[in-house]
Amino acid sequence: MSVKERNQNTSLVRLLGVTKMYTQPDNYNIRVLDDINFDIQTGEFVALLGPSGSGKSTLLRIITGLSEPSYGTVLYRGEPVSGPNPHAAMVFQSFALYPWLTVQQNVELGLVAQGVAPDKRHQRAVQLIDLIGLNGYEDAFPKELSGGMRQRVGFARALAVDPELLCMDEPFSALDFLTAENLRSELLDLWLESRIPTRAILMVTHGIEEAVYMADRIVLLSKNPARIIADLPNLLPFPRNRKAPEFVQLVDHVYKIVTGWDDTENDADLVESTVPSQPSQGGQPRLKPIPYGHLSMLSGLLELVADRGGHDDLYRLGAELFLEVDDLLPVTETAELFHLAEVREGDLFLTELGKSFVDRDVNERKAIIREQLKDIPIIRMITRVLVSKANHAMSKEFFTDILEEHFSVNESERQLMTAINWGRFADLFHYDTDTELLYLDDDQMRDPLALSLQDF
Ligand code: ADP
Ligand code: MG
Repeated sequence: MSVKERNQNTSLVRLLGVTKMYTQPDNYNIRVLDDINFDIQTGEFVALLGPSGSGKSTLLRIITGLSEPSYGTVLYRGEPVSGPNPHAAMVFQSFALYPWLTVQQNVELGLVAQGVAPDKRHQRAVQLIDLIGLNGYEDAFPKELSGGMRQRVGFARALAVDPELLCMDEPFSALDFLTAENLRSELLDLWLESRIPTRAILMVTHGIEEAVYMADRIVLLSKNPARIIADLPNLLPFPRNRKAPEFVQLVDHVYKIVTGWDDTENDADLVESTVPSQPSQGGQPRLKPIPYGHLSMLSGLLELVADRGGHDDLYRLGAELFLEVDDLLPVTETAELFHLAEVREGDLFLTELGKSFVDRDVNERKAIIREQLKDIPIIRMITRVLVSKANHAMSKEFFTDILEEHFSVNESERQLMTAINWGRFADLFHYDTDTELLYLDDDQMRDPLALSLQDF
């Protein structure tokens, strides 16, 4: 098939109002995907970019027919998808190989499912193993292979069925840097040179650079719930050079859009009750979620920015700290929450408070954070409970239960662990990991925050 033919631009996949809710054990419905509409045309390599937990894998499963949307429709070549789509194949982050099958047998799996005769199956698998650079390893078992080679098997297995639509769920993120880079460029070559009959590729990723390096189009998802916030064409010519100014510019542009992501705007949709009498529906103020910024990382980030003269490009900072965007953003959001820095158009600027934070010693830094924490509702809630208990101690579980009135089970755990990380860093309360108890010592009881909360 020629590139031209591939580029005829017929709609392969069409999503119409795709919405997905999950029911939590306590009967709350979490809306993960909200009204997702987009098309994938033949000839396109689309990257779906979004933060961890935003619903990318969920959307991929829905597109391939492995899961059903709660509302909305998926059309494949104009026909509604019901059940696993035989024209689509998936490559998983975790490789998902069967350990008791050889490379050859793993690659043949998809063909077995399609009822292909054994000799044909064998022949096809040998071709694919060769194409993907694994010849000689046909009889090896997955445990004998490196991560990169295992993912090659993952690719060979997906490609063996000649899928029209190749779906990949963060296929390179479990690999080391060099291996990932090799596999990316090899896959791109196969695709660009039409050595595989695939008509379109949909790759889920949380790496901005990876998306800009590989895709023709980048669809950006927000989180809580996932909505499409941008759909950008990427017309940079191949082979792409990560150092080229246009490349850096596009990465920077995506960063700017991403740093405009606002979880709090969508707060009200985060948890939807199916039980109208639940307390958090009855006028009780909602807890605002906090970003998952680890405070040791916050200090490192602020020091680096100070070294750069008080401001720097988020993209460069991420690259230097080896942080993916969804690891970096919670830290910058935390810096903003504590008034230590501001993000403007993809750059991080230290505030006056941020500049003086960097110049202080550890104890003075703790004092600054402690001051900021006093305005954070979840911290106030925890401290208030600890102050009012006679022994000034309370189990972690107690707080998890409270948070689960506001957030999903997973989110509650992450919110609480982040709050505990902050509170311990700032010496506002203690946490014993063995007993899972939060408690205050006498000095902490004399803290102005504790004193101010005593009357509650
Ligand atoms: P991503 O791939 O973007 O990291 P996922 O699609 O895996 O995100 O998950 C999105 C959200 O949906 C997460 O909060 C996850 O906990 C939740 N989720 C995913 N699958 C289920 C399920 N089967 N039941 C309940 N919640 C789920
Ligand atoms: Mg995922």
